[in-house]
Order: sequence, then C-alpha cells, then structure tokens
Amino acid sequence: MNESPHNTHAQQGIAFLNDGPKKHFIDGNFQPSMSGESIEAFNPATGKRLALLARGRKEDVDAAVSAARKAFEGPWSRFTPHQRATLLMKVVDVLERNYEELATLETLDMGAPLKRTLAMKNVLMQTVTYFSAQALNWSGSTIPNSLPGNFTTLTIKAPLGVVGGIIPWNAPLISMWWIIGGALATGCTAVIKPAEDASLTTLRTAQLLVEAGVPAGVINVVTGLGGEAGEALSAHPDVDRIVFTGSTVTGRKIIQASAVNMKRVQLELGGKSPDIVFADANLDKAVPGAAMGVYNNSGQICTAGTRVFVQRSIHEEFVARLADYSKKIKVGDPFDPDTQLGPLVSEAQLKRVMSYVELGGKEGATLAAGGTRLGGDLANGYYVAPTVFDGVHNDMRIAREEIFGPVLSLITFDTEEEALKLANDTAYGLGGGFWTSNIRTLTKMMNGIKAGKIWVNCWSLNDPAAGFAGYKQSGYGVKGGRDHVEGFLYEKTIYINGD
Ligand code: NAP
Ligand code: MG
Repeated sequence: MNESPHNTHAQQGIAFLNDGPKKHFIDGNFQPSMSGESIEAFNPATGKRLALLARGRKEDVDAAVSAARKAFEGPWSRFTPHQRATLLMKVVDVLERNYEELATLETLDMGAPLKRTLAMKNVLMQTVTYFSAQALNWSGSTIPNSLPGNFTTLTIKAPLGVVGGIIPWNAPLISMWWIIGGALATGCTAVIKPAEDASLTTLRTAQLLVEAGVPAGVINVVTGLGGEAGEALSAHPDVDRIVFTGSTVTGRKIIQASAVNMKRVQLELGGKSPDIVFADANLDKAVPGAAMGVYNNSGQICTAGTRVFVQRSIHEEFVARLADYSKKIKVGDPFDPDTQLGPLVSEAQLKRVMSYVELGGKEGATLAAGGTRLGGDLANGYYVAPTVFDGVHNDMRIAREEIFGPVLSLITFDTEEEALKLANDTAYGLGGGFWTSNIRTLTKMMNGIKAGKIWVNCWSLNDPAAGFAGYKQSGYGVKGGRDHVEGFLYEKTIYINGD
C-alpha cells in the first residue's frame, strides 16, 4: 500500500496538508508552539509521515485557556440563544460544503475507510443540527412559593465557562462535537486537546468554525502529547470542566488532576461490552451484527461488543458462520471503495492488538478466524485480519481487558441466568446487546444488563438526541441528549422578596 495511487492522490488533494507544519489554533489563528517543538503525525495505511504537529506544553495551554476566558467574558457572552442557534446552522452549511475534505483528512490520519467516513456525514450534520436546537431549549424554572410573605423563588441557568475537551483518535470528526456542540449551544468556550494520532480534522474544523462566524477564542485547539498538553489542560486552574473520552487509565488521572480547582468532569471511558446470541435469534442478522459490532472501525470503538456469548445449542453453527463471515471481510486500502476495514491507527496499537492475539492462544482459546497481521501490499500499514477466538472463558484476560482491535471472544452459555451473570461479570458497563425473538428474554435482558447503552437485535446505532452514560469503570456524566447540554451549565437559585 506504500505507493497506493488512491492514498497519494487523496493526500495531494488536501491544501490544508500541503501548507507546512500544523500549528495550534488559538484565538482564531494558527500559532506555533512556544517551544518551537513538533511531533509527527502518520498515515496508518502507509506508515509514512503525514504532517508535523505543534507539540503543546503548559505555556501553550495557558495561552489557549486565556483566549477562551477572554472570549467567554467578551462579545460571545452577548450572543443571544437565538444567535447561537443560527450560528450553529451556519456551521452545518460550512461543514456540509467542506465535508469531503474533512472525511479525506480523517481517513488519511486514522485509517477508517473513506466510504465509511463519508457515510458519517449524516451523523455529523444531525449532531450539529441537534445542538442548534438545544441552544434554544434550556432554561431555569420557577418554584411554587411556600415561604411566608410575598416571595418568588426561581432558578437561572448560566454557562459554566471554559471547558477543556480531551478526545481519542478513533472518531475525532464526531467526538470533538461533544465539546464544540455543548459550548456553542450554551455560551461556553473550549480548548480541545485532540489525540496525537489524529489531530488534523479537529484543527481544520476549528478554522472552519471561524469562517462560519464563530468568534475568535471560542473554540481553541492545542495539539501534543497526553502527558504534556492533556495533563496541563486537565490540571489548569482556570478550566471549569473537562469533557473526556478515552481510556479508563487516563480517566483516573483526569479525576485526580481535576481536584486542583474542583473542576466538573465528564468521563466516557473503556468497555468490554457483552453481545448475547440466543438460540432463537435470527442468525442471518445476528452473525453479521455480532461480527461488525466488533470489527467496525477495525475494532476501535468503545462500545464494541467484544465478548460474544452464544447459546450452546447453536454454538457449532454460529461459530462456523461467524468464521466464514469474518474471513470474507475485505481489509485494505482505506481509499478503495470496496474496503470494509482499514488499518489500525498506529504501530503501537498494532503491537498491542497482536500481543493480545498471542495471549489468547497462550490462555487456551482457539483461533476460528484471523489472528494475523496482513502482509503483501499491506505490509507497510497496520492491518490485522478480523479475528475470532472460540472456547474463551470470561476470566481470561482477552475477555476482561479492552483490546481495541478487530478481535472477538466467543463464550458459550446454557441458560439466560448464566448469560446475564457472565455479561455483568466485568469491570466495565459501557454497552451491551443481545439477539432474540422471545419477548420474555428481551425483557429480562434489557432490565438485567448493567450498561449505559443496549442494542436489541441491532448494533452500534447512535442518535445525538439520546443520552448515554457509562456505568462502573466506563465513566460517568451523560453524553448526548438534553442532559449533555445541562452539563455545560450551572444553576443559581434566586429568592426575591416582593414586599
Ligand atoms: P487514551 O490514551 O486515554 O487517550 C485519550 C486522550 O487522552 C488522548 O487525547 C490522549 O493524548 C489524552 N491523554 C493521555 N494521557 C493523558 C493524561 N495524563 N492527561 C490528560 N490527557 C491524556 O485513550 P486511547 O487509547 O487513545 O483511546 C482509546 C480509548 O478510548 C479506549 O479505552 C476506548 O474505549 C476509549 N473510548 C471511549 C469512548 C466512549 O464514548 N466511552 C469513545 C471512544 C473511545 P495522546 O493521544 O497524546 O496520548
Ligand atoms: Mg495519524
């Protein structure tokens, strides 16, 4: 793939990539790191360098936070809800016009097939439109008076202030909007630290926002390393809230860093979600559903149903069909329209995933499909074949730890009770799903599975209007829906003496 005409052509077509090293986006302008240092961004399909990114440190974060504070206190605070809603609709227009470029950049940077990235356009447009509507949809309340005298008691909601956003590399084009959308809908401002492995679409989006009319300083982006720029942002005393999506390990550090000024924190963390296939399921749907519920985005999705529980009476048929389906998936050049799965995001991620594949064998699981890094034309990129481990036990590390690659663990069960017990026997509580045609099983499972999002006879659907929060070590704080917007506000209670 090193010399793929698709890849080279795509890269040449992006002016944003070809105008030199990428800088932070602070106060409406691209600005270099104060230290002058940079880090490299790679194209995971080829292993080649894609761009240089500014390496942000504390002083760069300080500059971005003070630009965000200045904008928060300044003209942005005088935008009415209606003006913010209208502005968000202008943003929808600008994103729509520039979507092909954004999708191409995302694919070059993190490897998801272009066809998939282009298909995400609707999700992005719906998400931004949803936030436009939310700009007009929050309010305080009046409380029926029980106090002696002529009192009116009411609450006012107000924007929290400067919000820090820290996001991972698996879908930045969408995940940055959980910060930008909330800020623009409420009158907050933001500083975003994208993942070092996929920062380009966040930078380009910030620039497009200013083109759409978002005032300078409202949305700022500082690139760099998690342990430097990310840590400085999460520990910054003038940041009021952190919205974090990433691993549980980093989430713990964010909580600790937030103590400095009692920042509010919203955490969307890791998962090891169960997907349960009952004997009465429609296997024509459950086989591709359970497979793509893991392999989608090359397994780099937090809610991936990586523990697939299958009822013993259909185990033989299911594993045969699942293996067959997995072997037919086309893994390859993300710019080839036939490609279903692209590479993993980085060499580090490839090593991590392959070490789990090796571990699965050592733990006694049996490979039913995949288990290899792909070579030949794909040897320079970070490609892994869709992998099925059969004969997995729920106490094996491959069933307990998040792999974040196209690796599925198949676990056999006999009864509903056993399936439920095993499904909930995990440190996480992010997603879950099951496949059945029995309404009693449906009721039992939807009530019994302890997770923030559950798919019944389907997989991986998301609606920005529907809230979602992790359970257990998958985090807390609602993402999506009205409660998401509430997270960018604080409430004041006012007592007025009318006499
Ligand atoms: P990660 O290591 O936690 O990184 C996420 C972000 O945090 C990156 O921007 C990273 O910067 C930054 N970071 C790293 N160390 C930091 C620190 N000490 N202080 C502040 N920020 C720091 O996660 P990842 O491995 O890149 O991403 C995959 C993880 O994200 C998986 O666990 C997945 O389940 C989770 N995820 C969850 C959701 C959800 O909605 N629940 C969605 C998507 C992904 P660098 O990139 O520079 O390290
Ligand atoms: Mg990259």
